[in-house]
Amino acid sequence: MYSLCRDGVYYWGMYFDSHAHFKTLDGWNGTQSVIERAVSSGVTGILAVGGDRDLNHHAIEAARLFPDVVRVSIGHDRDEAVRLCTGEGGVAGGMDCLEKDICGLRDDGLPIVALGEIGLDFHYSADTAKSQVELFEAELSLSRKLRMPVVVHSREATDETLESLSSHAAQWKGPTDCIGVLHCFTGDVPFARRLLDLGFHISFSGIVTFNKAGSLREVVPVVPDDRLLIETDTPYLAPVPHRGKRNEPAYVVDVAARVAELRGCSLEEVGELTAANAKRLFPGQGDNVLS
Ligand SMILES: [Zn+2]
Repeated sequence: MYSLCRDGVYYWGMYFDSHAHFKTLDGWNGTQSVIERAVSSGVTGILAVGGDRDLNHHAIEAARLFPDVVRVSIGHDRDEAVRLCTGEGGVAGGMDCLEKDICGLRDDGLPIVALGEIGLDFHYSADTAKSQVELFEAELSLSRKLRMPVVVHSREATDETLESLSSHAAQWKGPTDCIGVLHCFTGDVPFARRLLDLGFHISFSGIVTFNKAGSLREVVPVVPDDRLLIETDTPYLAPVPHRGKRNEPAYVVDVAARVAELRGCSLEEVGELTAANAKRLFPGQGDNVLS
């Protein structure tokens, strides 16, 4: 923990960035300096998130560089759907490989704590919707087999996302509060409530700081304390006052500050409760799973 000063107030820093990608950070030196800056800003945990071969590789390497800070989620995102659905062995073959990778990496001592990011995006890739749903369902099934939480992306696919996640939740046999998270939430209050009913966490990104995000800000106070997460989605979506720059996990403090304002509580409270939630959902070595 780190003593920090913000707006003239000293407090203990403790933040968990629940979603960051390390692919585009100018190689390992870039990743190293970005994570060092995060740590000196009070970030004590980062979920490095994959989604394709390159993203998965970079997430794993970030955890090798900073094993005390970084935990890892690997999987295949919607852009992988057509390749996996039409490739040799189909989606089933892809899932066999992913399962072997997860088990092998865990045997090597790496903290592979979630499956993702996975999910649906009909904004950019509506033409591949059928393959996206097929891959999404297959990864949800693998997460049930391995009892791993999922990191879910959903854009302009609310109905289809809810349909798949409802069926997943009905079959989930893991701890009820460890089913997963809807990351970078941009939906409305009814969508949030449906996800919460299914047991999901909701993660807010720098979008809550943007001028145009008025309706999203109505969702922030609706999420119960024990289901709230914050993230940067590095390298995208840098929060105010860093807009236009490449995002990085240190800026999760700015997301926390806006979330605290919207929930009428202190920055320190948001930092502590979101870090505790992230550690419960994505437990690493040394975390008390029952706490
Ligand atoms: Zn992402």
